[in-house]
Amino acid sequence: MEPTVYVVGHRNPDTDSVCSAIAFAELKQRLGHGNVLPARAGELNAETAFVLRHFGVPEPECLEDATGRDLILVDHNERAQAVANIEHANILEIWEHHRLGDLRPSGPIVFHCEPVGATATLVGEQYYLHGIEPSRAMAGMLLAAIWSDTVNLRSPTTSDKDRNMAARLEGLAGVDAGFGEQMLQRKADSAAQRSADDLIREDYKAFEFAAGRVGVGQVELVDAGVLATREQEIREAMRALRESAGLLQIILMVTDVTAGASDLWVEGDGLERFERCVGPLRHGRVHMPGFMSRKKQLLPLLDRAFSDADAPA
Ligand code: MN
Ligand code: MN
Repeated sequence: MEPTVYVVGHRNPDTDSVCSAIAFAELKQRLGHGNVLPARAGELNAETAFVLRHFGVPEPECLEDATGRDLILVDHNERAQAVANIEHANILEIWEHHRLGDLRPSGPIVFHCEPVGATATLVGEQYYLHGIEPSRAMAGMLLAAIWSDTVNLRSPTTSDKDRNMAARLEGLAGVDAGFGEQMLQRKADSAAQRSADDLIREDYKAFEFAAGRVGVGQVELVDAGVLATREQEIREAMRALRESAGLLQIILMVTDVTAGASDLWVEGDGLERFERCVGPLRHGRVHMPGFMSRKKQLLPLLDRAFSDADAPA
């Protein structure tokens, strides 16, 4: 029997990481690779659980240690975001839509990275390139992942390819844009109800820069005002996470999807660097009109702010 190959996304998995893994594993199976299974790198968030329930798709197995595993990675290519001990795994393929990271397998692999709104768009494209029509459930996985990553196609990360793929999948999945709004509401409700620590960690990524490691959490809300009374508690949790994770700086990106803007809440050292490249902080925050994407809009600014180890902090 061929050894099992797991398809897995990043830790603190979002809908794109989980659903792209599920749909890509099913594509491999339909292409005759019955040994390929989906996995997840952590607990499902409320939105992803809602999507899986709606389409009757079981939760994938949780992968806690990558040691000795044969893996296909989706939706990430940075060590800090991968399953523990990823350096001891055998990475066969990477399907991705973020910046080039630091995961460099020693041998040649399939590496497909393209600046689209969701990994699911690339997985959907592979279905059609192989002449295979996704089942209703798999079309649902892919569509939900595209909607989730692009905030229902409203984020500036959305490309024509994402729009075309979403339109193609809608009929197969049997859901309309109203389902996307329900997903968004789930995400927002869960954010408002969660503990401060869970809120920061729900969609959290750490980035390695020359100046140090910076953690960035993002919360997407239909009305960002719901967090106003909780700022003190949330900032305390940010400082605690910064301490325990040894971060130079921690940022919470509070995105108001209705307004299409974000507030950045910042704690830590290197604030001058942050202000020079992002904008002046008032009471530890800066308002960024039009900002919805951590990857496309915030990360390039942070890269400029923290890529030089020796510049004065
Ligand atoms: Mn993701
Ligand atoms: Mn993604």
